[in-house]
Amino acid sequence: MAKILDKQRYKCAMSAMQTVQAIERAIPVLHSGPGCAQKLSSSSGSSGYFSPNIYPCTSINEKDVVFGGVQKLQSTIEHSLNVIDADLYVVLTGCIPEIVGDNTEEVVEGFKDAKKPVIYASTAGFKGNNYKGHEQVVESIVDNLLEKSDIRVKGLVNIWADVPYQDEFWHGNLRELEKLVRELGLTPNTIFGFKRGLDNIKKIPTADFNLLISPWVGLHNMKKMEKKLGIPYLHYPTLPIGAFETSKFLRAVGEYAKVPKEKVEKIISEKEEYYYYYIERYADLFLETRVMSKQFTVVSDAQYALGITKFLVNDLGLYPAKQFVVDDTPKEFRDSIKTYFKELNYGIEADISFETDGFKIHSEIKEHDYHGYPLILGGHWEKQVAKETDAHFINVSWPVNERLVMNSYYVGYDGGLKLIEDIYSVARTRFN
Ligand code: SF4
Repeated sequence: MAKILDKQRYKCAMSAMQTVQAIERAIPVLHSGPGCAQKLSSSSGSSGYFSPNIYPCTSINEKDVVFGGVQKLQSTIEHSLNVIDADLYVVLTGCIPEIVGDNTEEVVEGFKDAKKPVIYASTAGFKGNNYKGHEQVVESIVDNLLEKSDIRVKGLVNIWADVPYQDEFWHGNLRELEKLVRELGLTPNTIFGFKRGLDNIKKIPTADFNLLISPWVGLHNMKKMEKKLGIPYLHYPTLPIGAFETSKFLRAVGEYAKVPKEKVEKIISEKEEYYYYYIERYADLFLETRVMSKQFTVVSDAQYALGITKFLVNDLGLYPAKQFVVDDTPKEFRDSIKTYFKELNYGIEADISFETDGFKIHSEIKEHDYHGYPLILGGHWEKQVAKETDAHFINVSWPVNERLVMNSYYVGYDGGLKLIEDIYSVARTRFN
């Protein structure tokens, strides 16, 4: 029987055009039906130099299904190179050309001597969601643009985190991760966002190591780079939010990069002193138990479900009800992700469910006794269940419909303070 996905939490793999969009002066060239690009045009932050509304697209139709669409692809790439001033052209395939068997790879191969790099990623929607599509684009970059280097730049670290635009806080989070790594005396290298792009892509093979901050997205890419480029990687599964996890993160990265322990501890004590200065000033509010919920639920991808759960338990002392991971995490990663939710302070363990069906998630939330007002952090879809359960609600994960996120972030010491501000700004409205 056909399965209906209630309350969509992600898009198809072809939304990897968001990943390309996040690389400055890179443009997706779509080999797909005309509607495939449309799905991004309503996203926030997708306008600018290249917007989804101007992405070149083969717009294949019935005739191309019968006779093949490779000629159209050939001319679309040629015209794109002539008309659009970009530094990187990434051909992305939708379902139709892949079903009818167009040899996209061969067409793209024919552009290997073009004036600008043209690469290809297979992103048909039936192959998975946009988390997988993101990995496909990174893989294509590694396969087609990078070669093993004899040069190693001491202290250069490639930083990878979760998916641009799917994570509305991606830009601010990446910049804050860079700052943290820089504090340790290392040199961060990221490819997404303002003034990064192709120059930084070229630096990837010269890095000392890759740093992946994500429960699972990107792990295949790290392994690929280890094999092809000989770059080892540090996998830190938890997005560090607030003092506890950020200090742990700095220790882990410092130890891996062989930064002297005393230096790391000095940075941590300065940062924690600053963080707890604010916590102390508002402790009267945090100790006012009428205001805040006792239990919380996060409905989000693995990245935020884990990062926020750790923050709310370890830094704010709240207790986890059930947490819902909604990114269709591949089965191979689920057991390890479950163990991460058991590594909370005070011997607390969080029960989690990998679930994509909004109806089931909301039914479980409604049935649970939160011993007071629930605190729910999730997508826009959770607004309704929050209303029905009289919960405090913060929209932190896709779809984000009611707030504008430009360069805000939840990562790090400041990110933790920002999340506290957001939570209490909602909670306090109940008593005013
Ligand atoms: S699922 Fe296939 S047809 Fe639909 S938008 Fe994605 S790539 Fe296009």
